[in-house]
Amino acid sequence: MGLNISKLAKEIKPSATLSLKEEVNSLEKEYGFTIIDLTAGQPDTGPTEDVLQALLEGGKLHKYGPVQGDLELRGILSEVINREIGVRYDPQDIAITVGVKSGIDILMKVLLEPGENAGIIVPFWVTYPEAVRLAHGIPCFVESDQALRPDPARLRKEVEENNIKVLLYSSPCNPSGVVYTEDELQGIAKIVKEKNIWVISDEIYGACVFHGRKHRSILSIEDMRSNAILVDGASKRFGVPGWRIGYVAGPREVIAAFTKLQGHINSGTSRPEQYAMRIAYTSEKARQATEQMRQRYERNADIFVNGLSQAYGISCIKPEGAFYAFPNIKKLFGTEYEFAGKRYRIKTSTDFRNFLLRKAQVVAVEGSAFGMDDYIRFSLATNEETIVNALGNIKSAVGELA
Ligand code: PMP
Repeated sequence: MGLNISKLAKEIKPSATLSLKEEVNSLEKEYGFTIIDLTAGQPDTGPTEDVLQALLEGGKLHKYGPVQGDLELRGILSEVINREIGVRYDPQDIAITVGVKSGIDILMKVLLEPGENAGIIVPFWVTYPEAVRLAHGIPCFVESDQALRPDPARLRKEVEENNIKVLLYSSPCNPSGVVYTEDELQGIAKIVKEKNIWVISDEIYGACVFHGRKHRSILSIEDMRSNAILVDGASKRFGVPGWRIGYVAGPREVIAAFTKLQGHINSGTSRPEQYAMRIAYTSEKARQATEQMRQRYERNADIFVNGLSQAYGISCIKPEGAFYAFPNIKKLFGTEYEFAGKRYRIKTSTDFRNFLLRKAQVVAVEGSAFGMDDYIRFSLATNEETIVNALGNIKSAVGELA
């Protein structure tokens, strides 16, 4: 008998976007298409010159550093958190991570016993359920309301019935673009406190909020400090997802345990990047670049969602932040189309994604990857011309289904 890999490794779902790449490549090759890619979970910008320069300078930090992260950067982040969400975390209560992804992964291992339940608000970022499974926990899904907003009544029921120990969500939300209001956060906080559970607040899109709204954090609600953990990072804010840098802030005991695990998992994140982040989080140039990016994505969201609302069978809530549109496509299920001499029927979000690929030459990510099969996610982190072209293609392709 041959040697086996683990059941866990076999059962973890591959990233939806990676398998898509293969399909896009084969369509481009076979039919000579140029496909407009609206799958990117990353900004179309990069770091400002001063931050890039700092990264090069940071190369001189070539030895292992503190596993928890360089103290200078943790000091700066303590100020950033205080300024932006109004809570003071001592640098000792902050750990620098290999991106938000690794932050969440290690947190799950810190907070969950094998077999314990983690509540994930739907729709969710694709990695959350897998991070729970990697910690031998069980993901439990908490439905949102019709407008994709958090629903405290359902949350309470789910927490009670499934004995949820950790709750996880992103606001601004990837994929829906919903930004939780103060009232909604108060509603969640009340349940978290009453049931005494952990809550992980993923605020990676906090700097990308539209139309004068303010990003709010559950951490700023009174009494939340002993239950809430913040995860955030530089990938979106400074356009550096390839640099792999993020942070967690929370109760001292959690951060100490986090650091202990991180010491064996990755020894902390790259020090040149940490050095560059000292500049990024204090640079006026970088702040302006983030704001310009925010304004462009706000405009892209307006153009795209207004345009989509005229398309046959599609309805989309207006994104309030992040850089995605997440329209409902359920009315198009049951429709049929022809491509390369074959007839296809659209029954799922994956079928609709394939329809767009073949007939509109636009690629997006099926809603099922985010826990909602009646939806599809478009990334708007691109230039306006691409948005306008994609919209034109989608509208005419969908028009043929009418
Ligand atoms: N959280 C959310 C909600 C995201 O959308 C992403 C990136 N797509 C991440 C976390 C991961 O970020 P990082 O690059 O810091 O690992």
